[in-house]
Amino acid sequence: MSRKNLIHLVLGIVLLLILAGLVIGYLATRQDSGDPDAPQGGVSQGLPSTTELPTGLAKADPITTLPSQAAEPSSTAPFQAKTGYCSGSGVRVRKAGSTSAAILGTLSRGQSFTVTGSEQSGWYPVQLSDGTKGFVSAQYVSFTKPSDQESTETSWIDPVTVTIDEDKWYLTLVSIKYRLPENYKPELSYPVKGIDRPLDARVTPHYVAMYNAAKEDGCTLTPYSGWRSISRQKANYENKVAVYQRQGNSRTKAEQLAAQWILPPGASEHNMGLAMDIVNTKESFENTKEFAWLQEHAADYGFILRYPKDKVSITKVAYEPWHWRYVGVEDAKKIKASGQCLEEYLGLYND
Ligand SMILES: [Zn+2]
Repeated sequence: MSRKNLIHLVLGIVLLLILAGLVIGYLATRQDSGDPDAPQGGVSQGLPSTTELPTGLAKADPITTLPSQAAEPSSTAPFQAKTGYCSGSGVRVRKAGSTSAAILGTLSRGQSFTVTGSEQSGWYPVQLSDGTKGFVSAQYVSFTKPSDQESTETSWIDPVTVTIDEDKWYLTLVSIKYRLPENYKPELSYPVKGIDRPLDARVTPHYVAMYNAAKEDGCTLTPYSGWRSISRQKANYENKVAVYQRQGNSRTKAEQLAAQWILPPGASEHNMGLAMDIVNTKESFENTKEFAWLQEHAADYGFILRYPKDKVSITKVAYEPWHWRYVGVEDAKKIKASGQCLEEYLGLYND
């Protein structure tokens, strides 16, 4: 082979290699992009992904992301005001940077404020949320990471223990804010023979009536999750909290994160025995004939869709088409007609 032919051969091979590389690269990008527009699972119907259950529904009663996370601080330029957090409890806010200066207020652990200037002689100038300006000892000021801000600055709800009206027990609101007393336990009975899913015994006959009526229309409202003990709720919740704590979160932060998946003990309607999760197929319950039947008839038996799609910001619970709550026939019909959720109907909100 001549030298010239050899050069041609080498050039030819190089060209072929480049061409092959281009083809492989092109195929690879096509594979990466996948089918971005393809529906996933085929059931979400445009729901934001946060309102969808990941897996294992009935256990969780997961709630969507808690209200607005704190915005990231814009930068750490030298004198830019930033959010600080009180790292002690009962920490004084003083009129000047001295322990002998007048006391303007007291901060609790985790309370946030604005640090308006740099540290001077062990004191930070601060402004509280009510506008009070003063100084806090630098040893009690911490600047947490942006990802931790929401835990202390916004949105953690102070729970209130509900008192149950003896006459209107069926209208009791339990939620992330309104919690049952820890020892609450209703008298139970089982609506469907052979299925270990009890309800408050006062609700059971209404579920049975609804179940039988649906059955006549060819729909099976199989109980999937009814009453659940507060202690079991607590165990589930604490397990989740522990997971988040092991990831390095504070207790408060871990509780908040856990509450997005499992309602805290006493916060679930299942603890009260007034709600049933109804699931009978593996497809999205929203698309079943049972769901359509419930939408039309459940109120006639005193049940409402407790966590509607368009009320997530009020209920603080993800859309749950399977979760039906007893409120009595009269109120169920009124609630359905009004288009309100239970919080709106009762004028009780979760913040
Ligand atoms: Zn439920």
